[in-house]
Amino acid sequence: MASSNEPVNSAAGAQAPSALPKMQRFIVQPQQTPAKRAVNERAADFDEIYRGFDAKAAATQASRCGQCGIPFCQIHCPLGNNIPDWLKLSAEGRLEEAYEISAATNTFPEICGRICPQDRLCEGNCVIEKGFESVTIGAIERHITETAFAEGWVRPIRPKRERAESVGIIGAGPAGLAAAEALRQLGYQVTVYDRHDRVGGLLIYGIPGFKLEKSVVERRTAWLIDGGIKFQLSADIGGATPFAELRARHHAVLIATGVYKPRDIGGPGSGLAGIVPALDYLIASNRKGLGDDVPEFESGALNAAGKHVVVVGGGDTAMDCVRTAVRQNAASVTCLYRRDRANMPGSLREVTNAEDEGVEFRWLAAPEAFLGDRQVTALRAQRMRLGLADASGRQAIEPIDGGSFTLDTDLVIKALGFDPEDLPDAFGQPGLTVTRWGTLSINPTSFETALPDVYAAGDIVRGASLVVWAIKDGRDAAASIHRRLQAQAVSSMATAAE
Ligand code: FAD
Ligand code: SF4
Ligand code: SF4
Repeated sequence: MASSNEPVNSAAGAQAPSALPKMQRFIVQPQQTPAKRAVNERAADFDEIYRGFDAKAAATQASRCGQCGIPFCQIHCPLGNNIPDWLKLSAEGRLEEAYEISAATNTFPEICGRICPQDRLCEGNCVIEKGFESVTIGAIERHITETAFAEGWVRPIRPKRERAESVGIIGAGPAGLAAAEALRQLGYQVTVYDRHDRVGGLLIYGIPGFKLEKSVVERRTAWLIDGGIKFQLSADIGGATPFAELRARHHAVLIATGVYKPRDIGGPGSGLAGIVPALDYLIASNRKGLGDDVPEFESGALNAAGKHVVVVGGGDTAMDCVRTAVRQNAASVTCLYRRDRANMPGSLREVTNAEDEGVEFRWLAAPEAFLGDRQVTALRAQRMRLGLADASGRQAIEPIDGGSFTLDTDLVIKALGFDPEDLPDAFGQPGLTVTRWGTLSINPTSFETALPDVYAAGDIVRGASLVVWAIKDGRDAAASIHRRLQAQAVSSMATAAE
């Protein structure tokens, strides 16, 4: 393989690379992605599979950027990150400035650099992709912030002034944390409530360590606590702590509770033991990795070791489940998906990783029945085919007459997506209006719900989405809360002066 500085393109023959400008080196410099750990090594643990760039590789790869006048990478980044500028600074070795620019629009760049589906966002829209392969934006973003942490450039949150107003945030996932950080920077008193015992939401308990090591999330948690954000964990709002109590306690409340109601599979045998929801399985695995005592893992109920595992679904959650099962030493791991590979909803990068790690894919097949006495022992699947496309362009799926097959299995993991819980009911707030999908209705510019001084952001508004969108929503909701609280403060000062 060519070293990262070797020109390989024939166009290089005309001009020595050193004579070329610092940027636009895509003409001579091939794309280099971060090294991936070997399959047999990475499948034996839960550590991240991609290694970070070193300084030389990051600068070299950043110099491939064409510095487009209209940067489509930035347009397609939900946060509107100023990608061309931080790529140029990285290529010039001015990483502290690159970090300042990157951190100005993204609360957790080192996390997005690792787990954004870049192929669908910034990199997938990089102009040089046609013909030269995209700039490796995510890996460079990760490198910039990792360097910033190592060099001490990630400064603690120290507001210029303290404000008396307090904001309560329900949910310590990326939406709630991004809002908490933005509000605390402005000096508000911020308390984040979460029903889990750790901070991070799906970053800590959903997404496995091979995509995002837990220490990366814990480092940010420590930074937020150091900045004065209070966390009340194991606090189930709507359960032991009434929602009304929070509204009375805080000047504004932000709901960032995510979506957690798993979509189910019905049909004969669907109640047998050994058929489990994806998130229960992933939480057990993540808790085990974090050193918790997990009885359901020890009993084998949520542990794939030695089992023939079938995961039903084709999204990112399904990919996380199959790859977790590989690492737990399952006897075999099969993914059953009703469409084909080209129509998988998850990131193709993750599908490829799963294939490399030995997962068998059975495309165009859907579960028809689960067989067994008390415990599932087999799954009968119906073969499907793709039919005509609907108005949105998505092809319908149709069963093939007489086409079915059976897979032996002793653990079936259901990864069919998530719907919102019934929050108006859980919070005892019938005035909290929802959309027809059950997500919270908000004013799209102010993030306000139908209840005064109550805001909402992240998956509970969008439906199951992405970390980068949750961060964007959390930051925007915080800005709106700030505007409202400032306006209220000005109006009460005017009233007092009268
Ligand atoms: P969440 O992260 O879900 O956080 C919500 C928090 O609210 C949770 O901590 C929850 O405990 C808390 N909460 C809920 N109800 C209450 C209550 N009543 N009282 C107190 N606390 C409450 N996105 C990507 O960009 N890249 C990926 O690779 C990726 N992989 C994923 C893998 C899996 C398995 C899953 C499930 C999702 C993945 N996603 C990924 C999606 C991403 O994790 C979510 O879009 C994102 O976490 C949403 O952020 P959020 O803050 O809205 O909600
Ligand atoms: Fe790309 Fe995500 Fe970073 Fe935006 S936040 S530049 S989409 S990796
Ligand atoms: Fe650089 Fe690609 Fe963005 Fe253009 S689209 S500015 S080449 S990263």
